[in-house]
Amino acid sequence: MEKREGKRRIVLVSPPAQGHMTPMMQLGKALSLKGFSITVVQGEFNQVSSSSNHSSGFQFITIPESLPESEVERLGVIEFLMKLNKTSEASFKDCIAQLLLQQGNDIACIVYDELMYFCEAAAKEFNLPSIIFSTTTATHKVCCSVLSKLNAKKFLIDMEDPEVQDKVVKNLHPLKYKDLPASGVGPLEPYFKFCREIVNKRTASAVIINTVSCLENSSLSWLQQELGIPVYPLGPLHILASTYSSLLQEDRSCIGWLNKQKPRSVIYISIGSVAQMQTKEFLEMVCGLSNSNQPFLWVIRPGSISGSEWIESFPEEVSKIVSEKGYIVKWAPQIEVLGHPAVGGFWSHCGWNSTLESIVEGVPMICMPFIGEQKLNAKYIESVWRIGIQLEGKVERGQVEKAVKRLIVGEVEKLKASVRSGGSSHKALDDLVKYLNVE
Ligand code: UDP
Repeated sequence: MEKREGKRRIVLVSPPAQGHMTPMMQLGKALSLKGFSITVVQGEFNQVSSSSNHSSGFQFITIPESLPESEVERLGVIEFLMKLNKTSEASFKDCIAQLLLQQGNDIACIVYDELMYFCEAAAKEFNLPSIIFSTTTATHKVCCSVLSKLNAKKFLIDMEDPEVQDKVVKNLHPLKYKDLPASGVGPLEPYFKFCREIVNKRTASAVIINTVSCLENSSLSWLQQELGIPVYPLGPLHILASTYSSLLQEDRSCIGWLNKQKPRSVIYISIGSVAQMQTKEFLEMVCGLSNSNQPFLWVIRPGSISGSEWIESFPEEVSKIVSEKGYIVKWAPQIEVLGHPAVGGFWSHCGWNSTLESIVEGVPMICMPFIGEQKLNAKYIESVWRIGIQLEGKVERGQVEKAVKRLIVGEVEKLKASVRSGGSSHKALDDLVKYLNVE
């Protein structure tokens, strides 16, 4: 990367989604603690508020919304993101031009989420270095890279063969076809095109990933070789530099409820900020949980049950069962919940942030993946890291806990050590800072 001594501003760009914004703010905090000024550029929808962010000193700039968020439903997520990348280019260029004009040429780098690849056009135009930030696993990037080289039509024919589903994909062991992020995303042609956009590194000079080398050593080496640019695994970012950037109001009353439960007795259930379950799945879960006699803390996000605003629209019986055996919130202080001594298991959709948060707290997982890379994470949780089970058929939580506890303890220590002095992520952050040429 070109020497940019004395340039200490980092511009951050994230998609307006909780699972992407949270790690981006954590990365911003980690870099601000190393002496950089941080500018967050965001659209109007789902903004990280400057007041709610604990990272004081961040500058927040709003650029005009180039594509209404309501278009997601009409276009589908993949088409929406591709269109957003086209329509955002001009406003982001204007924003960078303004920044350079007002604040002088002090931008050390633009760090953008891999989904926001429109940032490259501005980086190129103003001759600014850029770095890609990935909020999923290194293995997901490897998958995108392998998939982007396949023929979508042939792949689709293969995928339709039920026998293929259980076969291990060449070059992606232990992933089977059914674990691939491409399965169940809708039309494959646009998805493969999108993968190609994501893996095309353009002029970015490095990649930062919210992962830990002890979890993904071989995928990280593969990526490093494939991309030919430095790859910095800085995770788990929530322990490297924790921030508060919740878009929804956290209901802290659940902590009082947890305080009254026995140690390791509660199942915490959350499907993250985006996934939606069908009414039938929800009702099955209600019955299953009720029969299990296990106390549970359940995050039922408004809109997370397809076709219903929230649980008020269900027969009273349902809310009664749910509130008799468990505790319901619309949004929880998840990291604190996972660290609570009463929590013994995490029934999760396997989003990458939730997975890292659970591993760090040593909570075994029951995996119920919905979309995209969640299936891939679930496969790794069950078969590679052996810290949970995939939900297939009936759930026997006690068995899960016994089977995984011993293995989890080892992982917890490794992950916590990774962000301490001398640990792999701590070292990767120092290397990144040196790379940015300010030390
Ligand atoms: N989260 C939270 N409270 C909740 C549910 C989720 O704070 O009730 C946070 C969670 O700690 C994680 C993020 O929301 O940091 C979800 O990100 P993840 O990658 O797990 O899933 P996504 O929402 O992107 O599907």
